[in-house]
Amino acid sequence: MKILITGAAGFLGTNLSLRLLNEGHEVIGVDNLYSGSERNLKQLENHSRFRFVRHDIRKPLERKTIGEVNQIYHLACPASPPIYQKDHQFTFDSSVDGTRNALAFARENNAVMLFSSTSEVYGNPKKHPQTEDYNGNVNPVGERSCYDEGKRAAETCCYIASKTGVDVRIARIFNTYGPFMDPKDGRVVSNFINQALRNEPITIYGDGSQTRSFCYVSDLIEGLVKLMNHKKAHSEEDVFGPINLGNPDEFTVYELAKKVLGLIPDSKSKIDYFQLPSDDPVVRRPDISKAIKILGWEPKIRLDEGLERTIEYFKTLKEAE
Ligand code: UDP
Repeated sequence: MKILITGAAGFLGTNLSLRLLNEGHEVIGVDNLYSGSERNLKQLENHSRFRFVRHDIRKPLERKTIGEVNQIYHLACPASPPIYQKDHQFTFDSSVDGTRNALAFARENNAVMLFSSTSEVYGNPKKHPQTEDYNGNVNPVGERSCYDEGKRAAETCCYIASKTGVDVRIARIFNTYGPFMDPKDGRVVSNFINQALRNEPITIYGDGSQTRSFCYVSDLIEGLVKLMNHKKAHSEEDVFGPINLGNPDEFTVYELAKKVLGLIPDSKSKIDYFQLPSDDPVVRRPDISKAIKILGWEPKIRLDEGLERTIEYFKTLKEAE
């Protein structure tokens, strides 16, 4: 199959590209390298079935540069809070205009599209764990709104397109970690591991009692592929409706810090506490009953094992410096 991945040089895009190339598909990777990295691209570029197109998703995708495709994984959008907050307009436009452009290309190609939405659509949730029918508690005028509301509006674009014939599936992706994360993107798992490896203070924001549920990347990719290839779109099983993909094992940020320090026992890092960013969700945990029922999917890799693998990845990056 010919598969387009927008955001191919990002963390999820690189892992997904490698998986699909290993399965024998042809992958066209689009990225503008705003948050995707050249380092990730190097893993893909010497593969004979991979083609890279440098393109800003805020502009329309064109057949003359991309070619014809059967499937589109639309992942492009900065996703780490410090990165997506650098340029709120860019983030919002990448999300909304980018999704419109990806949908238009899906329509033109009669391709199936998977849109990478986010647990951020639930905001600071008042329902716990979060099910897909929970409409969220999002601040429309805050530091996170360019991303949260951008993704919510992009979901609406998918909904509108689905009414006029585009086969689009929405994955609401919860916190994911693993190899090919950017060590400098400011997310909690990459920060803590790299701080511990460098004997720098572990930076907990707030008192560390806020929770997240961390999914190892190979599990998440398996969920995306299953959702994309599910045959029963528009059936009574309602694949179109958003599906949570994440690991329901929930940890406080403090527990995560202790786990990372436990797995890097020679680290001299101590924990330091900083101010909690505004609108930082207090809790987050997916209810994945729908993914289990419809896709037969659930994560397999426990946090300790996933962290060990991720630590190995960041060690090799550090050694290559
Ligand atoms: N966080 C932290 N220290 C860091 C980075 C993040 O304590 O160095 C916290 C952050 O405030 C949030 C949680 O870890 O409560 C997850 O942050 P991340 O940016 O990874 O993802 P989010 O789920 O907030 O999008």
